[in-house]
Amino acid sequence: LSDNGVDIRGPWDLIVVGHGFAGLSAAVAFLESWSGTAPRVAVVDRASVDERGGSTRSTTATFRLTDAGGLPDDVAQLIRASAGAATDGYLRSFAAHVPATLAWLAANGVGLLRRDAAVALEAPGNWNSLAGGGAGFIDTYAERATGLGARFFYQVELLGLEREPGGRVTGVRVRGGEFEAVMETSAVVLASGGFEGDLEELARRIPGGELLEPAFVGARVNTGAGIAAATAVGAARSGQPDGACLLPVDPRSDLVAPVVGNWQWGILVDLDGRRFVDEAEHGFELHAGSVAKAILARGGLAFAVTDATVRAATPMLERLQRTDQPVIIADSIRELADRLGMKGAVLERTVADYNAAAVDVPYDGDRLDGKRTVGISPAKSNWAHPLTEPPFEALPVAAQIAFTFEGLRVDDTTHVVDESGQTIPGLYAAGEIVGLYDGDTYPAGTSVLRALVFGRLAGREASVETRP
Ligand SMILES: Cc1cc2nc3c(=O)[nH]c(=O)nc-3n(C[C@H](O)[C@H](O)[C@H](O)COP(=O)(O)OP(=O)(O)OC[C@H]3O[C@@H](n4cnc5c(N)ncnc54)[C@H](O)[C@@H]3O)c2cc1C
Repeated sequence: LSDNGVDIRGPWDLIVVGHGFAGLSAAVAFLESWSGTAPRVAVVDRASVDERGGSTRSTTATFRLTDAGGLPDDVAQLIRASAGAATDGYLRSFAAHVPATLAWLAANGVGLLRRDAAVALEAPGNWNSLAGGGAGFIDTYAERATGLGARFFYQVELLGLEREPGGRVTGVRVRGGEFEAVMETSAVVLASGGFEGDLEELARRIPGGELLEPAFVGARVNTGAGIAAATAVGAARSGQPDGACLLPVDPRSDLVAPVVGNWQWGILVDLDGRRFVDEAEHGFELHAGSVAKAILARGGLAFAVTDATVRAATPMLERLQRTDQPVIIADSIRELADRLGMKGAVLERTVADYNAAAVDVPYDGDRLDGKRTVGISPAKSNWAHPLTEPPFEALPVAAQIAFTFEGLRVDDTTHVVDESGQTIPGLYAAGEIVGLYDGDTYPAGTSVLRALVFGRLAGREASVETRP
């Protein structure tokens, strides 16, 4: 295997496994910080050139900043609240490197766009995305890394790591087609994502996990090989083993992430026509994952039901209906039940109970309004506006997986550590491969920034530590 005559076996100064935000950031940062002559950097990716970049390919890359371009305090608090394993040092390191990382992206031709924050009720403020999204980043940074001298090996898959007993990582075992090789190296940055592409493992860990659709490129190619390889040479893990960022989507649509969130303002019912979850315990950005998980546990398909009054009183509803498929409409709840293939009497009873349980306070779909239910189970915490006015509307909702939570444990500067907290010399990890979040709630819009910040840091650390 070779790139323009360069033998894949090396020796290399750095091998980067993975071609997303974290891996490309590491490769470019390493090369920019390199002080020796002719750096030897290899980037290996199991995907083809057309599918390179895993989850990074599918994202608009949206995140929240302070007006001064830093990490908002409440984002750090959200991560801390959902991240039992995160040390304060890791979060301090994250916050400290955000401004420099953004300046570095801009200097390398990746700018920011301001986003509409209206649907992020509990995370208001300054939402941004990378101009060109994740796919634009991949093209820009792959070109930049190539210009700085990196070699790319596509359709080459990580199999394992070579480590001296108790000592340094010295090599990477790979397979490309029929060919297997050991790549010799001074340092390795693992950036190969989580295990969202391992459906059998997901089924073992998440109730209903076998029902998840591998909808995104990342959720097909990221099978946890990097996590397994590092664990085999002694790395510790962190993050919630059954945790994952799940998205509620319209299963009929082929769009990327055809998110459906209108159930917040109406009700969500199972195939029998019964409610099974508090639809509005939080706003969408903090609650969507829990609701998608509840849908999985309920058989993998549910229906969001609203009426004409709720629709008219909730302009924001349209923005959380990102499907290209038609809304199912009926003049009565019984007719709607017929269209959805469920028993009319059950859905009528569900709606009647819900309507009767709503407290009599004003409805405001633009904020968590406290218009809750009393006396029914599950309760609904906000936006319990009775559903009485035809036309009644429904959309099917299923769950897609974006990424998993459990991964490798690292220190504050991306070195992979073992169970005793000792670093494994020569081994770094960044991005989704690092386990961080605990629980079901994913702090929205934190992964991209995390992959960029710690990918850059990993490249810089490796560059300094392997300096000739
Ligand atoms: C639809 C969608 C929308 C999202 N939106 C947002 C958002 O708006 N904001 C946000 O913060 N986060 C978002 N995320 C999450 C975010 O995109 C990811 O956390 C981020 O892209 C992860 O980057 P990464 O570099 O760690 O991994 P990835 O981008 O997944 O890259 C992993 C790379 O490793 C390669 N690879 C995998 N296995 C192997 C192997 N065995 N050998 C060699 N190579 C391998 C893959 O081909 C890929 O190139 C979204 C995710 C999805 C799926």
